[in-house]
Amino acid sequence: MIQSYKKKPKILEVYDTIFIGSGMGSLATAAILAKEGKKVLILEKHYTAGGFTHIFKRKGFEWDVGIHYVGEVQRPKSIIKQLFDYITDEKLQWADMGEVYDKIIIGDRSYDFVKGVQNFKDKMTSYFPEEEKAIYEYVDLVFKANKTSKSFYLNKSLPDFVNKLFGSILNKSFYTFSDKTTYEVLKSITSNEELIKVLTGQYGDYGLPPKESSFFMHATLVKHYFSGGSFPIGGSGQIVETITPIIEKSGGIILINADVKTVLVENNKAIGVKMIDGKTFYADSIISGAGLITTYNHILPTKSVQKHNLTKNLQQVRPSVAHVSLYIGLEGTPRELQLPKTNYWIYPDKLDHDTLVSNYVKDINEPFPVVYISFPSAKDPDWTNRYPDKSTIDIITLLPYEIFEPWEGSKWMKRGEEYDALKESIATRLLEELYKQFPHLKGKVSYYELSSPLTTKHFVNYEKGEIYGLDHTPKRFRQHFLKPKTPIKNFYLTGQDIVTAGIGGALFSGVLTSAAITGKNVLHKIMK
Ligand SMILES: Cc1cc2nc3c(=O)[nH]c(=O)nc-3n(C[C@H](O)[C@H](O)[C@H](O)COP(=O)(O)OP(=O)(O)OC[C@H]3O[C@@H](n4cnc5c(N)ncnc54)[C@H](O)[C@@H]3O)c2cc1C
Repeated sequence: MIQSYKKKPKILEVYDTIFIGSGMGSLATAAILAKEGKKVLILEKHYTAGGFTHIFKRKGFEWDVGIHYVGEVQRPKSIIKQLFDYITDEKLQWADMGEVYDKIIIGDRSYDFVKGVQNFKDKMTSYFPEEEKAIYEYVDLVFKANKTSKSFYLNKSLPDFVNKLFGSILNKSFYTFSDKTTYEVLKSITSNEELIKVLTGQYGDYGLPPKESSFFMHATLVKHYFSGGSFPIGGSGQIVETITPIIEKSGGIILINADVKTVLVENNKAIGVKMIDGKTFYADSIISGAGLITTYNHILPTKSVQKHNLTKNLQQVRPSVAHVSLYIGLEGTPRELQLPKTNYWIYPDKLDHDTLVSNYVKDINEPFPVVYISFPSAKDPDWTNRYPDKSTIDIITLLPYEIFEPWEGSKWMKRGEEYDALKESIATRLLEELYKQFPHLKGKVSYYELSSPLTTKHFVNYEKGEIYGLDHTPKRFRQHFLKPKTPIKNFYLTGQDIVTAGIGGALFSGVLTSAAITGKNVLHKIMK
């Protein structure tokens, strides 16, 4: 049954703005609009709010789903930090992960990603002294690519006809970076495949190996963490907790178990939404933060999709890969268990990232192409206040949706023995990877649970269990329809798909979408 996430005010029928989904993009847009005096209604399908920022609790443990580290928030003047301060009234606090935010492990070789640009260059040069020139050139290119992002964002606020006429001129320098794959750019400065494998060792953060990903995406991600990684104090659930009061202050509300069936469109104008249970809500603007594919395929009325030929747009993009996540609970504090704050990225010794991914996609019994281990309880200084004597670890790897497709339509937690056995075999392999790096943890694990791509579909409504919405290929960055405005009047998009995956990307979508609705220079106001 639909219910209020926090307060229990009267649920109205008419609001200023309705949001479909309560992910980072929706929350940021809603908070900015609430600060402009708008009464917003956020409708979330899940039994809890926050999209991928939500947490879940089981057997006395708590896990974060889609946040392991966020960059830039330790720099007071960064856009991300100022944005978070604005939408939470400075209530959201961050804990720095320390000097080493990522550790790349290839076979038995280990490479630390350290905070600070010069430190990063020095560290990489210490591993690859003969590659000093290439490393410096690489960092230079990362900054150059990031500089072109201004035109990328600006383009999203231009009317279609301006875009058609001048888009390619305005975006010329952006396309020089976004059109190239990460591998193409790296190969142009070095032929050292081990260095390329190390420098692209965070590719799991955007889900595509170097020969397929756009260099713009890679450069955005790499620069994002140059000043280190941070974790929300109190866990990622603090994001929705600190934004909710801002929304409520303006008379807004978040509803959970609130599954939107369709958008109500009259004469090509969005006027409201209809829920699965038949209830209707009305507003001046309707915003979908549910992801492009879900919105086009499942939420917009077929008539509107056909009228604007939106399926043609869908053919230009593709869903990102799915994933499995092993949520582990351990007895003992993070300190007792000597858990690091650093994220571990583990790769097989031989072969490049692309070959490893393609071998594994063909047969998941091949070595995992990437294993990511994160230690959230060690990163959060508030953890032991809430959970004394306990710790958590998350392990993630990629997994094609098709592997779990046979169980589509089955019920969560009741998918049958074969499904459970498949999950168990993957969980066992992932635990082996953990014990290889941390043998002392053997015997300390008291609980584990593997989420599958069907779990992602069930809870966050991504059709193919996508980990990051749309794939970050060069072609994606050429698509002009990935922006707040749609051809349907008063209907807008927000969230990772209109910018890039990641909390930073989804957060910034809030600026773009609220600016498109209010016509105001929202960013200027926030940065002031
Ligand atoms: C495993 C994992 C780890 C990650 N780690 C990091 C990290 O360390 N750092 C980082 O910066 N980023 C990370 N990310 C990425 C980041 O979490 C996402 O990019 C971001 O949270 C996406 O936000 P969004 O606004 O697009 O919405 P989403 O979080 O995708 O939320 C969309 C919401 O819409 C709801 N919805 C869908 N359909 C309907 C409907 N019909 N009615 C009502 N509601 C609906 C869904 O239930 C969902 O809650 C990670 C993601 C994953 C999956």
